[in-house]
Amino acid sequence: MSTALRNSVIETEEQRDLRAAVAALGKRYGREYFTRVVAEGRHSDELWAEAAGLGYLGVNLPEEYGGGGGGIVELSLVLEELGAAGCPLLMMVVSPAICGTVIARFGTDEQKRAWLPGLADGSRTMAFGITEPDAGSNSHRITTTARREGSDWILTGRKVFVSGVDIAEATLIVGRTEDARTGRLKPCLFLVPRDAPGFGRSPIPMELAAPEKQFELVLDDVRLPADALVGDEDAGLLQLFAGLNPERIMTAAFALGMGRYALDRAVDYARTRQVWKDPIGAHQAIAHPLAQAHIDLECARLMMQKAAHLYDAGDDLGAGEAANMAKYAAGEAAVRAVDQAVHTLGGNGLTHEYGLASLITAARVARIAPVSREMILNYVSHQTLGLPKSY
Ligand SMILES: Cc1cc2nc3c(=O)[nH]c(=O)nc-3n(C[C@H](O)[C@H](O)[C@H](O)COP(=O)(O)OP(=O)(O)OC[C@H]3O[C@@H](n4cnc5c(N)ncnc54)[C@H](O)[C@@H]3O)c2cc1C
Repeated sequence: MSTALRNSVIETEEQRDLRAAVAALGKRYGREYFTRVVAEGRHSDELWAEAAGLGYLGVNLPEEYGGGGGGIVELSLVLEELGAAGCPLLMMVVSPAICGTVIARFGTDEQKRAWLPGLADGSRTMAFGITEPDAGSNSHRITTTARREGSDWILTGRKVFVSGVDIAEATLIVGRTEDARTGRLKPCLFLVPRDAPGFGRSPIPMELAAPEKQFELVLDDVRLPADALVGDEDAGLLQLFAGLNPERIMTAAFALGMGRYALDRAVDYARTRQVWKDPIGAHQAIAHPLAQAHIDLECARLMMQKAAHLYDAGDDLGAGEAANMAKYAAGEAAVRAVDQAVHTLGGNGLTHEYGLASLITAARVARIAPVSREMILNYVSHQTLGLPKSY
């Protein structure tokens, strides 16, 4: 049995070729590379550079700025395949997907020229900071504020759990303008260079075996030039969601890749491990949960592909609902697949040698971030089903 895709109806020949090529690249690096990078406390720079050089990281960015001219459909399949090979690149969720998309859609010509070629060829990376310690899931409560001083912006606030700030040349920070008195979210997006005076970061010790670190950020009167603002000050919400929908779709891809990787390991093991007369995979108590995990992952992928197609077709509203549902389905499918994979390996599921146990924590990320399981259920209850809001 193979968990490989049989989706010739859903993907074009070009997309299937891309999937196969990325899978081959992932296989060359594999889980061993990823584990070694984490153990050495490094980043997966070699894979990042090679994937970028092959055009995979900028596949969604406009061709005129060095990208591949594709969309989130292509970018998500790249991340999924790298994850399925055991070496996901988390910063793909942030750098080309959120930041690249927002700049490509709403940036000035100068911002596009300055950032997109570097994001496309992987030479520049960008982080994205929205989460705040006191706001958490309630992004309406974010208090990072920007005030004008002459033509400059002065940014003040705190962020938490922001990934990859150490490797990112700049972080796209979601703030709000100070005169937003109504209390309604009026987000604005600012490009904050890593070494901007007043921009402090401290790593958060996480129980995650990943090359990318999360940071707490302090923005202490960070002075930014006028052109640090990305997009229109008064259309922030629309612009923000243009970036958050790809983030959800890419988190689904991240989860699916991880789930597929774990499932493949478990299936290999169940085929050969024999403690009675047949391999353990012959016991339905082992086989059925693995089959179920496969079905869950396939269904979640379909929803992810739907969301990505809607997004690429310009249907931001339709993509919003589908992206939420895809993130939910993929996160849940990954958590279950990893849990069952670990269980299938018995004691070996918890050994360093087989390396599956660390995925238990990693898979939970997709349930929590960038928007938690409960907040998606809230969204679907209210927005899709029209049920009353309780919070
Ligand atoms: C590995 C990792 C990487 C991350 N990377 C980034 C990043 O790059 N940039 C960034 O900005 N953020 C990042 N985050 C932050 C992430 O988006 C947040 O952790 C997430 O949005 C949840 O916010 P919180 O942690 O404050 O949880 P809280 O909002 O405190 O929620 C805690 C729990 O309460 C539940 N809850 C809250 N409100 C409700 C409600 N109304 N109804 C029902 N349940 C509710 C939640 O579902 C959750 O289970 C990252 C997080 C992790 C773990």
